Amino acid sequence: MQLTNRSIEVSRKPLTWLEKLYVWNIIKGMAITFSHLFKKRPTINYPEQKRPFSKIFRGLHVLNRDAEGRENCTACGLCAVACPAEAITMEAAERLPGEENLYREEKYAAKYEINMLRCIFCGLCEEACPKDAIYLSQTFAPANYARKGFIYKKEDMLIPHPINEPEAYQKALGEKSVKN
Ligand code: SF4
Ligand code: SF4
Repeated sequence: MQLTNRSIEVSRKPLTWLEKLYVWNIIKGMAITFSHLFKKRPTINYPEQKRPFSKIFRGLHVLNRDAEGRENCTACGLCAVACPAEAITMEAAERLPGEENLYREEKYAAKYEINMLRCIFCGLCEEACPKDAIYLSQTFAPANYARKGFIYKKEDMLIPHPINEPEAYQKALGEKSVKN
């Protein structure tokens, strides 16, 4: 049964002796190959070269510090509530006397984790945060071979200290989302 009227009858005429050598077809194929040597390459040498991201690209999460290097996060849990993928978990702790230089608020996240296998990079955690404590940077989430490696801990996401590690801090800021 014929389903469409687009079928083409295949020619079954015997090959000539020249066609049997396949030389002409090989030359035609090589000409196409060599013509690509002089064309602009559509590929790049990643990771040495990177394409510019869109200004609204949302990549890896970063936990923010203030100008004095104190952690902004107060473990309020709003990001976890806003997260549609239920990817964020945390444990709150009370700031002790003498820790004022470490944590900006009286409460802080002793443990903060994001399951990157669940995350859909929607950015709702960033929008929900009242403390400017989390943002999605313009960095890719790295690949990993094990599921466990996709559970990102606070230490993996915390931005470098602006006073103790100024160069690393500036580099991380350079990758910060332009929305901030
Ligand atoms: S980007 Fe979206 S899915 Fe990912 S942790 Fe934030 S709120 Fe959840
Ligand atoms: S990142 Fe922001 S919203 Fe999430 S717990 Fe910390 S302060 Fe609250």
